[in-house]
Parts: sequence; C-alpha cells; structure tokens
Amino acid sequence: MQAFQELRLDHISRHFANHAALRELDLTIRAGEFISLLGPSGCGKSTALNCIAGLLSLTSGQIRLDNKRIDVLPPEQRGFGMVFQNYALFPHMSVRKNIAFGLEMRGVGRAEVAARVEKALKLVRLDNLGERLPGQLSGGQQQRVAIARAAVIEPPLVLMDEPLSNLDAKLRIEMRHEIRRLHNELGLTTIYVTHDQDEALSLSDRIVVMRDGVKRQEGTPEELYARPQTLDVALFMGFRNVLEVSAHPAGPGRVRAETAGLQMEGVGEAPVGPAVAAFRPDDVVLTDGDGLPAQVGQVEYCGRDWLADLRLPDGRVVLARSHLALNSGEAVRFTVPADRVRVFSGDAAAA
Ligand code: ATP
Repeated sequence: MQAFQELRLDHISRHFANHAALRELDLTIRAGEFISLLGPSGCGKSTALNCIAGLLSLTSGQIRLDNKRIDVLPPEQRGFGMVFQNYALFPHMSVRKNIAFGLEMRGVGRAEVAARVEKALKLVRLDNLGERLPGQLSGGQQQRVAIARAAVIEPPLVLMDEPLSNLDAKLRIEMRHEIRRLHNELGLTTIYVTHDQDEALSLSDRIVVMRDGVKRQEGTPEELYARPQTLDVALFMGFRNVLEVSAHPAGPGRVRAETAGLQMEGVGEAPVGPAVAAFRPDDVVLTDGDGLPAQVGQVEYCGRDWLADLRLPDGRVVLARSHLALNSGEAVRFTVPADRVRVFSGDAAAA
C-alpha cells in the first residue's frame, strides 16, 4: 500500500453552472482514519467525494496527498478504491473476476492475483461464492464484492458513497459492522458518505456535517452527538424538540431558558435576539412531583420503549421517549436535565 500521512482538502469548491454544490471545504484526513461526510440529500457530500476521486474537477482549491498535488491527476493515477450505492459490479463477470479486475489492470502477476483474490474473498466471507455472477447474489453479498474489489488493490484511500442505502435495515447494521472490521483489519483510510446519522456515529473516528455545500461542523461522534454548535446540526443529530424560549446568561457557558413555566438550564451562551432550546426525546424525564404539566397525546410503541407526544398547556408539543407505558389522555409532568439542553439563537418556526 502506498503509504501517506495525510490527505488535505484545501478550500475546495465545485460549481455546476452558477450553483455552488460545494463551497470552500477545508479538511485534513490522516492515514488510518475513518471519516464520514454526513448531511441531508443535496448537501454536496457526493460532490466532495467525486472531487477527491477525480471524477469531478474542482472549480477552485487544491487537494494534496502529503506534499503532492493530486487534483490535477486523472482518477486512475490517484488510485483510490471506490464503493458506490449501486455496487457497480461487472454483471457478466464472476465474483472472482470482478475482484481480480483491478489487479489485472495494474499488471499484477497471475499467481499473486489469485492469492490476493482468495484472501479478499475470505475477508468479506464470500469464499464459497467466487464463481457466481453478481446477479446470483443478494444485495448484501454484492456490496461485499464491491468492498472486496475496492480493498484488494490496497489503495491508499477508500471512498464509499452511501454503500448501504440499498440494503434492508437489518443487513445495513450487519454490513456497517463488517465495513469497520475491514477498515481496521486492512489498515485502510476511509471517507464515507452517508445521510444516516446512526451509521456515521457508529462507524466514524470523525464526522463532518455538511449542509448547502458547506461544512457546518466537524468532530468526533461523541462531540457531535453531545455538542452540536448550531440548530441545523442539532436537528440533524436528533434534537427533535425545539422550543422558543427567553434566554439569560447563567454563568460561563451556561444559559437559563424559560418558556411557559418550563425552566431549563442549558449549555451555551445566551443568544442576542430570538432563542430556542433544543433537546432529544430521549432526554425528557417524566417526574412524579415537580416539572411541567402536560397531557399525553399520540403514543407510538417502539418495542423497547414508547414515543409520545406531550401537549403543554399552551398547546405546544414535546416528543418524549419513555421506558414506561404511557396512555393517551394521561396527565404527566416532565423536566429536561440541564446538560441535555442546547440553546441556540434562532426561530422555532425555521426548525
Ligand atoms: P444525495 O445524498 O442526494 O446524493 P449529496 O449530498 O450527495 O446528495 P450532491 O450529489 O453532492 O449531494 O449534490 C449537491 C448539489 O449539486 C445538489 O443541489 C445537486 O442537485 C447539484 N448537482 C450535483 N451534480 C450535478 C450536476 N452534474 N449538474 C448540476 N448540478 C449538480
């Protein structure tokens, strides 16, 4: 494998006509890292990946692998492995031939090709299906072939674009475990595009949240989960409750937020102007005594717990996850622990 220390995206932009699909993305990927580009549809994550692969040219900026500028090179000279959502296997070639293809193109000798293909088949646990055609495999098996085909060339960098989105929910979870295992076992460096926050959280060493072509926040899964810095990132990370509040400073890095009798102490600075408090349904705590009164509305049974609408006296609704069964129409009281509330400047209507 071609060793490198870091891949550097230096303020890369890509425009289509006068639409900026990617704006000034600045990011360093260190060898061995697993990085996810996470964001809603159309945020520019595939554009970024295709620019790194060389499938799209840059409108401005530079890409460097260590000190070598690579944005001027065609894709084959960058030599990165790619795994796509639709697998992109050769339909008329057996699994074994699909995996061998990249090695043969690089002029690797027959005996070595055979040995490396067998090893790759074992790694993705398809050693008994080498002679099948892609059409004779399940979606999950096809995606494993695609991963083996990308990894077998031992590329410096593997780029994956929503590789699991065509699979059913159970297989998606199994395959993401496999992807991380392969990344670790083969010592890969991986850039992974997804719109699924659970996938990004469980797979990544670092996550880059994007929106409208712009990097909105970058951090470890734990940082992004606990401390989104803006309301749009918070919404994307599952802070589904957003209430308009009046906010006041409560000491360094703390803010007191109040609305319709619900007192919350949150993390952050008190914004100037309109403010909102955001928190997850999982962080709503039902209490016996104090707390804000609410009436239970629609209840959804989720297997391990219940997801319920709690209607506040002023008609607003808070979504709560409860480990105890709740009944529609029931009167409850709830609070939200201070360290689970984030306060942002903004407008609840925009959330
Ligand atoms: P998805 O998850 O839906 O694939 P994405 O975050 O990967 O979305 P991109 O495919 O990078 O988004 O697209 C970013 C923006 O650039 C979108 O508004 C898209 O319509 C636009 N775009 C992408 N490719 C082209 C193209 N070839 N020509 C014109 N506009 C494009």
